[in-house]
Amino acid sequence: MSQFILPYFVVQGNGQKQPIASMPGIYRFSIDKLLEDIDPVVAQGLDKILLFGLPREKDELGTEAFADDGIVQQAVKVIKDHFPQLIVMTDVCLCAYTTQGHCGVMTNDKCQMSNDGVTIDSEATLEALARIAVSHARAGAAYVAPSAMMRGQVRAIRKALDDNSYQQVKIMAYSAKFASSFYGPFREAMNCSPAFGDRRGYQLDPRDSQAALERIRIEIDEGADMVMVKPALAYLDIVFQAKQLFNKPVAAYNVSGEYVLLHGQPTLIKEAIIAIQRAGADYIITYHAKEFI
Ligand SMILES: [Zn+2]
Repeated sequence: MSQFILPYFVVQGNGQKQPIASMPGIYRFSIDKLLEDIDPVVAQGLDKILLFGLPREKDELGTEAFADDGIVQQAVKVIKDHFPQLIVMTDVCLCAYTTQGHCGVMTNDKCQMSNDGVTIDSEATLEALARIAVSHARAGAAYVAPSAMMRGQVRAIRKALDDNSYQQVKIMAYSAKFASSFYGPFREAMNCSPAFGDRRGYQLDPRDSQAALERIRIEIDEGADMVMVKPALAYLDIVFQAKQLFNKPVAAYNVSGEYVLLHGQPTLIKEAIIAIQRAGADYIITYHAKEFI
């Protein structure tokens, strides 16, 4: 089993290998090209990937996020046909699929969670996230990874998976996801910057380690099989504490901004990865994964 998890961006179409200007060396692949890229890394021993999909069309409800012929659902099916042993993890969120670019369904009700005029309809959001997770499970995902930071997301997804007889499908929860500036290059890759407002209403304050540990505890109680700290390098204290406090595997997400800082400097990358390992991460999600398998 590899400790490394390689993220991939997948787009509709054929023959696509689109360079991402903000992330040198990283591409958006159509499914056919994705298979070509996965083939040698699986042969070398990588056994886990994390998929992010870019829909052909965005809409207000993020319909393609839960469509059975959505980009992630199609990709998972084809990948599992070609690489049955590969553990496919899928990001579960709405922000890349909706025109407003937020992680939840919007509402005008001012009583809901709010920040800078961004109001999220919690109930509708949990329903949508659960629906996305079930559609990924149906396609063959081994882990679904809710990244919306909505309260109750893990409980809602666990219940929906169980109700649909996907008890074997696990949840990797983005429990400690900070409102970080290190996500900048990713948002270009995914074309998912919010159209207005920001995500501080639902992501964690970088100064508040207690809130992060509390969210990890809550999401473990709700049924998370693995918890994640994101970003990794600037939050190694959280990785360390999560590992000490809870009896669950901890994944650290070495995010796009961290990738860009160290890109092309192998000795620095190696040292940074060692630091993440030293903090106690069981798994490391990193765009550098190919260099470590
Ligand atoms: Zn999101």
